[in-house]
Amino acid sequence: MKYMSTRGQVPPIGFTEAVLMGLADDGGLLVPEHIPQLDGAILKQWQNLSYPELAAEVFSLFTGDDIPREDLKQLAENSYATFRHEDVTPVRKLDDRRYVLELFHGPTFAFKDVALQFLGNLYSYISQKTNSIIHILGATSGDTGASAIEGVRGKAGIRICILHPHQRVSKVQELQMTTVDDENVLNLAVKGTFDDCQRIIKELFADVPFKQQYHLRAINSINIARVLAQTVYYFYAYFQLRKQGEEAPVSFSVPTGNFGDIFAGYLAKRMGLPVQRLILATNENNILARFVNEGVYEPGSFRETYSPSMDIQVASNFERYLFYLYGEDSRQTAEWMEQFKREGRIAVAGEKLDQVQRDFAAYSVGNEECLDAISAYHAQYAYLLDPHTACGAAAADKLAQDGEAAVVLSTAHPAKFNEAIERRGLPQTFPDPIQALFDKPQRQTVVDSTNEEVKKQLVSFFQ
Ligand SMILES: *Cc1c(COP(=O)(O)O)cnc(C)c1O
Repeated sequence: MKYMSTRGQVPPIGFTEAVLMGLADDGGLLVPEHIPQLDGAILKQWQNLSYPELAAEVFSLFTGDDIPREDLKQLAENSYATFRHEDVTPVRKLDDRRYVLELFHGPTFAFKDVALQFLGNLYSYISQKTNSIIHILGATSGDTGASAIEGVRGKAGIRICILHPHQRVSKVQELQMTTVDDENVLNLAVKGTFDDCQRIIKELFADVPFKQQYHLRAINSINIARVLAQTVYYFYAYFQLRKQGEEAPVSFSVPTGNFGDIFAGYLAKRMGLPVQRLILATNENNILARFVNEGVYEPGSFRETYSPSMDIQVASNFERYLFYLYGEDSRQTAEWMEQFKREGRIAVAGEKLDQVQRDFAAYSVGNEECLDAISAYHAQYAYLLDPHTACGAAAADKLAQDGEAAVVLSTAHPAKFNEAIERRGLPQTFPDPIQALFDKPQRQTVVDSTNEEVKKQLVSFFQ
């Protein structure tokens, strides 16, 4: 399998190179040359596989000759052995037609572990195979950083530096990052906002000689390996429902911000997984829901919400969907993105908008509605939702149709976002690994939000 850019200006490259490239060199996103098509016979074969076995099968369709099957199996085994649940991503049945797909059983209690445990091992594997140095640089508003650090801590050949806004991430998120004592981890707490962190990272990556000299790699959600790792649980969940005797058509409700998680579902469907509908749930930062419902993709003004990991103005994976919406036409995609840069908006209408609305149903969940869903699910099912998952649940309640089984993707453990839970005075239990964080020493370096300051730290760390 070869990979190409959504903007068409990158010569075809293999899987390994695509993983290392992250963002395509022409500014686009990397996509597989074609989407593998699965027939009923293959789905049947996959039905009874364990999660790691299934992950290896899915990846084998995308890795071409780059990674032998046995190595893929080992990678998947190692990546999912760190999960606390034997099913890795178990499905919980709440009632007749409502299910929750729990994606938070990894080391940091958020769904990003599913992809980043795998990506961490993959980077380590590539580093050993190709004898190359991998220095990961990223910015986080909380979850990605913790998850990325867990994915590579202590691994040979890899160092990681994560920028987070000083005292502007949740306490648990801060502790998850800064109590890691491995020598290959550097936490920079930037005196500023998440946007400052992101701007610095972007500018450092744009400094090509610096990037090359220090072997900088990205971990953000535009990496194709992350998307592929996330398609696996759609298949796995579907098989679990069928095994639990559910015969109705299956829909997924996905709380999304960067369009990563739901794009993985779209890809699974395009590969042939019989998905009835994909319900896209946003919080009040609802650029994606407005796009699906009105055809206009245009950032709104920033709103504070209870689900900060979905507080996104511009969705970094959206370009991949545009590319497929326009029949894999890279020239058209590049034009749209040019226009977006120039005018700050993209508008589709007519047949294209119909297609969008066949691909997704979307709902934007208000702050109170989010808390209401937490209360309602607790009262009705004695099940505690985190505020991100609650957006998915509220959207499913609004849009799920009679006769379909709706699976809500649960993207975080409620203990990770206790503030919302406290608002409704609901009982919370902190799992032991989270509780234990409060007693550990922290390691972080507080820096001013300037490129020079961050660069200085990087140079001494990556030397
Ligand atoms: C990152 C994140 C999301 C959003 O995922 P996308 O890939 O941006 O759609 C939702 N919930 C939680 C808890 C997250 O950490």
